[in-house]
Order: sequence, then structure tokens, then C-alpha cells
Amino acid sequence: MKQIEHTTYITVYEHNNELVPADAELLQRSRSAMRHSHSPYSHYPVGAALLLNDGTIVEGSNQENASFPLGLCAERTALANFAINHHGKTVDAIAVSVGTEAAAPCGMCRQALLEQESRQQNPIRVLLKGGDETVYAIGSIKELLPLPFYSKNLKG
Ligand SMILES: [Zn+2]
Repeated sequence: MKQIEHTTYITVYEHNNELVPADAELLQRSRSAMRHSHSPYSHYPVGAALLLNDGTIVEGSNQENASFPLGLCAERTALANFAINHHGKTVDAIAVSVGTEAAAPCGMCRQALLEQESRQQNPIRVLLKGGDETVYAIGSIKELLPLPFYSKNLKG
């Protein structure tokens, strides 16, 4: 028997002036994307913004339905927007904003981001921001999803 240790490195920025301008802009776009949230059931608007390799920023926001399982998180609406409108590009980073305490992507979104990261063979940085100035930065979605499930697992 042995144990495997998984370490996640999270950079914490406590003030807006610590951010590089590109990250500050991406976070601002994720914040502004919250305005397009449709969240009458949870009252929990979420905004996401993807930074593509050519500098394009793609937004998403959570979209809920009365049948809760049909709701889509902001991260996955941004990924769908990217997949439909930006063929051939890659995602360098995602920023996620909420109005309360900063929150990490749910398990389903971690899986979706991990598979995008795997397809493009380039890490996706994750930036998380709540209602205050604190920003959490993670270098790759893999850091948030140890022991991942990939399509190769389906092949047995
Ligand atoms: Zn999610």
C-alpha cells in the first residue's frame, strides 16, 4: 500500500493592484457577464469569461430553468459560446465571478474544462472572484480535479 499526495497551488491576490492588466480585464468581463444571468430560482448570478489565445474574450452566465437539473453554469455556457463561435482557437484562462464569497467551478464544469484543456493540450488558468477584492488563481484545471476521468477511460 502507498499513499499519493496531491498538492494544489493557489495564488491569492488580496488587492486589485496586484493583478496584471489582462487578468483584471478578464475578471471585469466575468463580472459584467453576471448581468446576463438567468437565475430566478437560486438568486445566485454567476459570470464567466474565457481568454482565448488570440486575446478574444468570450463570456457566459448561468441559465436556470424551473426544472433545476436543466440549468447551465456560467462556465459551460462560456465553453459552448467558445465551441460554436471560435473554432481553431484555444482557451488560455477562465475567470468566474459571483457576488458573494468566491466559488470554484462545480464538478460538472471542472470535467468540461478538463476535457477542453486535454483536447487543446494547453493548461487553462482559473481565476475566481467574489464580492470583495480577493482573487484566487490556479494554474490549471487539473489542479482542481485530481484523478481525472478522460475519454481514454471509456476504452477500457
Ligand atoms: Zn458548474
